[in-house]
Amino acid sequence: MAKLAFNETDKSIQCPYSLKCGACTYAGMTYEGELKVKDAQIKKIFKGICDFPHINGMYRPVYYRNKVHAVVSGTKDNPIITGTYEEGTHNVVAVDQCLIEDKQCNEIMATLRKLFVSFKYKPYNEDTKQGFIRHVLMRRGFSTKEIMVVLVTGDVMFPSKNNFVKALLEAHPEITTIVQNVNNMGNSMVLGSRNNTLYGRGYIEDVLCGYRFRISPSSFYQINPSQTEKLYKAAIKMANITKKDTVIDAYCGIGTIGIVASKNAKQVIGVELNKDAVRDASVNAQLNNVSNIRFVNDDAGEFLVDYAASHKADVVIMDPPRSGSTPEFLNSLIKITPSRIVYISCNPETQARDLKVLLKGGYEIKETASYDLFPHTGHIECVVMMQYCGKEKKK
Ligand code: SAH
Repeated sequence: MAKLAFNETDKSIQCPYSLKCGACTYAGMTYEGELKVKDAQIKKIFKGICDFPHINGMYRPVYYRNKVHAVVSGTKDNPIITGTYEEGTHNVVAVDQCLIEDKQCNEIMATLRKLFVSFKYKPYNEDTKQGFIRHVLMRRGFSTKEIMVVLVTGDVMFPSKNNFVKALLEAHPEITTIVQNVNNMGNSMVLGSRNNTLYGRGYIEDVLCGYRFRISPSSFYQINPSQTEKLYKAAIKMANITKKDTVIDAYCGIGTIGIVASKNAKQVIGVELNKDAVRDASVNAQLNNVSNIRFVNDDAGEFLVDYAASHKADVVIMDPPRSGSTPEFLNSLIKITPSRIVYISCNPETQARDLKVLLKGGYEIKETASYDLFPHTGHIECVVMMQYCGKEKKK
């Protein structure tokens, strides 16, 4: 079995878990080789739509994930294992170390496994609904060094809570907050809706592009901060925002892109479905003294349908989830006719599908770029800038 190793020369990884875990599609391949494969994939997906320059790779693609998630389970020989679901199944593969996840979080996970055993916490069993501990989620602010540990439990009752928190903090004083999340649902969602803060503030902050952001347990935050900074800067540059512009940041999460873009804009409106993320976004505007931005808690498509009835926007930056955007959103976007649209996506397939709709709506693709936010894995992040080129083009 391959030993866990990062090769500093060709930037490849070797991982004994990779086949079963399935996350690192390109384990064993040189990083340069991987980037070439990703270029070829992008070329294929966007064939007949647009070309892309060479993907922007990461300088040192190791330990880059600021978010670590593990399922907690047990086996005949081992009362507690943490790891990931084997691809396409609900079997848990034990993963004791990972080269793409934050190193410090990996160490905390090892301590948690020992503590779960010594506190006799049973892993939650999805079929019998028995047991206690379901998942562990950790987030680390790479700039601020703040660390959040979220313990997802099947029940509100937390036996020996204070002693557990004390033992964890004694082993890892670097942890800044510990949250219990209660998830007694029978679905595949990691987090339930109820959070109990056991220690600290219940959230972490991080600094990105010079702005400070609060991140709550269920809010989305990009997992590779150094590459995200490059992506955001490129996207905002492409948007070419001026002080006369009204900008919509659609699918805005905790408001990161909109807040970074607000400096150049007249006003920014962020729209986001997750209410915790919207709460974070409003706090984040205050934290950074940004007063020309407001956030709306709504489905982006529904919001845009209403907005299009009586408002205009000059620039729309959109960053939808993997499923892409919706016909309602895209049709309303065409109705609003912003002069520029910047479409950021972590799923080039749905992005290509949506771009075709906008091309038919009178837009032309002016600039493209891709960033490797997820080295060694099969994921790709692309950004495309479109400009309205008038009705004659539509004929
Ligand atoms: N732009 C942000 C978040 C991008 S991830 C960033 O860079 O951090 C996509 C976001 O879309 C998530 O925050 C998710 O909660 C949100 N989302 C998913 N479906 C949505 C919908 N229908 N309407 C609005 N937001 C949605």
